[in-house]
Parts: sequence; C-alpha cells; structure tokens
Amino acid sequence: MNVLLLGGTAEARDLSLALAKEGITLVSSLAGVTKAPATYGGSVRYGGFGGASGLAGFLAANKTDILIDATHPFAARISLNAVEAAEATGTRVLQLVRPSWPERENWQIVPSLKAAAESLIPNTRVFLATGGQSACAFAGRTDVFALLRVIDRPDGPFPLANGDWIIDRAPYCVEDELAMFRARRIDTLVARNSGGARGQEKFDAAQTLGLHTIVVARPPLPNAMRVETVKEALAWVAAKT
Ligand code: NAP
Repeated sequence: MNVLLLGGTAEARDLSLALAKEGITLVSSLAGVTKAPATYGGSVRYGGFGGASGLAGFLAANKTDILIDATHPFAARISLNAVEAAEATGTRVLQLVRPSWPERENWQIVPSLKAAAESLIPNTRVFLATGGQSACAFAGRTDVFALLRVIDRPDGPFPLANGDWIIDRAPYCVEDELAMFRARRIDTLVARNSGGARGQEKFDAAQTLGLHTIVVARPPLPNAMRVETVKEALAWVAAKT
C-alpha cells in the first residue's frame, strides 16, 4: 500500500507520523514554502509537482494507491490538482479538512481577500492574519496601515505602501494577541476561517477590544471523500488495506 500525503498543516503532520508508525509506505509532500518545516513521517519531498498532470505522473510513477490531501483549507489550487490527478490515474483520494470555526456575531464575512480589502474602513490600522501571499490583495488600500504576520522574514521590502511585518510563529495566547493589538493600535482584524485547534485567540482578543473583524470564507473544495479528523483518516486508510 503506497500513500502520498499532501501536507502543510498540523493535521497532515500528525497523520503522516501515525501512518508511518503503522508501517504504511508513505511519501509526505510539502510545497517547500516554509524555511523550517515540521517533522513528517515517511519519506519527505519538497516542492510542486508541475500542476495536475505532474502530480498524475508522480502518482503513476510511484504506483500510489491512496492520495491524501491534508493541505490547508485555503490551499485551493493543490486540492483541485489532487482530485484531477486522482481521477486521471484511478487513484483513491481522501481529503482531510479540519472543521471551520463557528461564526461569531461580530464577524463581517466576505468571499475573498479582494472583498476584504474593499471592506476596510478608510484610514484605519489593520492587522492581516491572512498569510504572506495575501498582501497584493491590499495593494490598492494605500490609506490604511497594514500589519502583516508571517512565519519567515521575506527577502524583499514590505509589499504595501503603508505598513510593517510581524515575523512570528503560532501558537499565540489571547494575552499575546491583546498586547499586540494594543501596542500597534490596531482597529481592524482581517483573518480567514482556517479552523484548527488553535488560532481563535485573535478573534477572542479582537472581540474584547471591539475591533472591526473581517473574515474571509473558505474557497470551495472539489468533490471527493472527505473526513475532518486524523482519527477518521486513519480509519479510512485502515479500511482500504
Ligand atoms: P496552493 O495555492 O493550493 O498551491 C500552489 C502550488 O503549490 C500547487 O499548485 C503546487 O504546485 C504546490 N503545492 C501546494 N501544496 C503542496 C504540497 N503539499 N506538496 C507539493 N506541492 C504543493 O497552496 P498554497 O496556498 O500556496 O499553500 C502551499 C502549502 O502551504 C500547502 O501545502 C498548504 O497546505 C500549506 N499552507 C497553506 C496555507 C494557506 O493559507 N494557503 C496556510 C498554511 C499552510 P504544483 O502545481 O507545481 O504541483
């Protein structure tokens, strides 16, 4: 039984370690965007496959029986590629997608980063918890000060007219988030509904301080067998072996 696991989340890492422990032949795949990635089980490869066709080629060449897409809920491209490549090669595919966080009354939910940028109140100070690649969506909002939190220090200059990086890595507690919002005089939070065991602390802090909170909804996923937990994914794999 050969498994290819597409990772980049805490759940993917946990699943890969559990599958390796069970003696399943596993390749864990990471996009290679994080400079110090977490430890995964099985053999680990880094970098893209070259689109859906490249991934299909990998599945065929490695005689992959099961493809598990445990990527981040906002990593829409690779999830589309996974289903397309699995269909092209007749590979079984499973999506492991953590549940969304429950919506809160103070959330303004928007469908995209572009809509989030358009929803910003003029001349405000905004905390962007939307990832390093999200900055370009806010490029037109030269009136706002944008604080963008990223894991690794980017090579180039800050990409927006007005703002700064915060280089930091989760987990954060509510007190951390409160202190950061206060110190940086933030009045708007922009975040995504990523879900997960941690990550809601910023919403707690924003609610405490009464910040304008804009939340980007998840992109749609292609149809496939889907589970929400590592335990369910393990049971699904066990049933196929
Ligand atoms: P994306 O837009 O869906 O994917 C962009 C390209 O990156 C894909 O077309 C693929 O390249 C490559 N790729 C993505 N995940 C890969 C993986 N696990 N193994 C090998 N190649 C992969 O994804 P993204 O939003 O840039 O996210 C990249 C990675 O970071 C994902 O693995 C995701 O789980 C993780 N991550 C993303 C977020 C987020 O907010 N989006 C947050 C935390 C972690 P090819 O087409 O060349 O195969």
